[in-house]
Amino acid sequence: MTINQILENSSLRKEMEKLWKFTKGKVRAETIKNHFQCIEAMEGKEGLIKVQNKLEELGHPIRDLKKFSPLEFVPTALADSVVLVATYVFHWTDRDIFQMGNSAPKFSFIVRLLMKTFLSLRKVFEEAPKYWQEHFTEGRVEAAVFNAKEKYLILRLYHWCHPVMCVFYAGYFLRIGQYVIRSKNVAIKETKCMNRGDPYHEFLIHWES
Ligand SMILES: [Zn+2]
Repeated sequence: MTINQILENSSLRKEMEKLWKFTKGKVRAETIKNHFQCIEAMEGKEGLIKVQNKLEELGHPIRDLKKFSPLEFVPTALADSVVLVATYVFHWTDRDIFQMGNSAPKFSFIVRLLMKTFLSLRKVFEEAPKYWQEHFTEGRVEAAVFNAKEKYLILRLYHWCHPVMCVFYAGYFLRIGQYVIRSKNVAIKETKCMNRGDPYHEFLIHWES
């Protein structure tokens, strides 16, 4: 099922309830700032205001980001709400959410800093669990398979998230791969998903030399 099929059959209010009920833990406040930067880049300043208005209407006002320090932890549900609300407000498709996830690391100070220290794909892959832990208080990433010969790797994410976030994370993980894999042909696919009854989300990244 695509995101649009899910959202067509449900209201934003209902999806928000689900998101807040099941999304556990906290995330760095910087994530919300990055989401806002992505939305502004994609939909303009007016677009961002539309999202903020809608968030307020739904009882989750986030106007002043200055009240958070970037490394402070906020509910992950709050950050994920920004992506869900934007999806509804702009009638985004999977492609748009993926694009948002794919551009998000570019705005992240933490990622830019980390990328300077990461030298190889294998290193990034091995550091993925630690990277998750630094950003999130709940869930974990498992660096499951790295096959240099066949040119693919598998990451597993043990953390329930709303289906819009599965698409977002796919875009996000791909960007990290794109930073370090020299090949122009890098692709990602979510091959397992907690929203489809699997015990984790599984992302397969493969590349051509
Ligand atoms: Zn998933």
